[in-house]
Amino acid sequence: MGAKILIVEDEEKLARFIELELMHEGYETDKAFDGRTALEKAQTGDYSLILLDIMLPEINGLEVMRRLGKDHPTPVILLTARDAVMDKVAGLDAGAVDYITKPFAIEELLARIRVALKLHPVSMEGVPENSDPSDDEEDVYKWKDLCLDEKKHRVTWKGQEITLTNREFIMLKVLLTNQDIVMTRDTLLEKVCGYDYVGETNVVDVYIRFLRSKIDEIFDIKMIQTVRGVGYVIKSE
Ligand code: CA
Repeated sequence: MGAKILIVEDEEKLARFIELELMHEGYETDKAFDGRTALEKAQTGDYSLILLDIMLPEINGLEVMRRLGKDHPTPVILLTARDAVMDKVAGLDAGAVDYITKPFAIEELLARIRVALKLHPVSMEGVPENSDPSDDEEDVYKWKDLCLDEKKHRVTWKGQEITLTNREFIMLKVLLTNQDIVMTRDTLLEKVCGYDYVGETNVVDVYIRFLRSKIDEIFDIKMIQTVRGVGYVIKSE
C-alpha cells in the first residue's frame, strides 16, 4: 500500500487536483480545508506526509505546525503563495522539511514528495527510521570554548547553554565538522534543507545571521567568517 498523504489546502479545487495527481501516483490521500481540521487529522491519523498550505482559515499553517510540536514525526511540506523569506524560514524552523511556492508544477511537487518520503520515513511506532541509536561515535565537536554535543543536542560556550533551532544546530554542526573548509551556500543549503531543495540560497544567510546573533555577538567572538562570494567557514586557529 502506498504512503498516505494529508493534503491541507483551503482552495478546494487545488486540493482536489493535487489529490487526483497523488492517487494517480499510487498514494493514499486525505484532505482538510482548514487549519483546525488539519490539526485534528494530523494528530490522530497515521500519515506518511502532510502537504500544508500556510494561508488557511481558522488556524494558519505555521500555527498548525507549532501546535503539532517539533517532535511530531510526520514530515511536512509547506505550500506557500508568499515569497517572504522569513515566512519560509519560520516554516522550516517550525519543523517543515521543505516548502514549495504556489503556483507550482505538479511534477515538482511530486518530486519533492518522493524526496521527503525517502529522507523522512515514518515507522509504525512514529519514530523516524533513519535515527540510528546504535551509532555511538564520539559526537562532540569543539571550537575554542564552544562545544556541540550531537547526542544531547546541546551547544555551550564555556558551559553556558546556547539555545538553537534544529536548522541552526545542523548548520553549526556542518561548519564545525568542516573547520578550515569553506562551505558554499549551496553546500550548506543542501546539508540543512536536503539535497533536492530548490529555493533561495539566501535562506543560508538568514540562518548564519541567527547563529551569529546567538553566538558571535553574545560572546564577542568571530567564529563564523564570511568568504565573500563563496560562503562561510569556521577557522580552527
Ligand atoms: Ca490558502
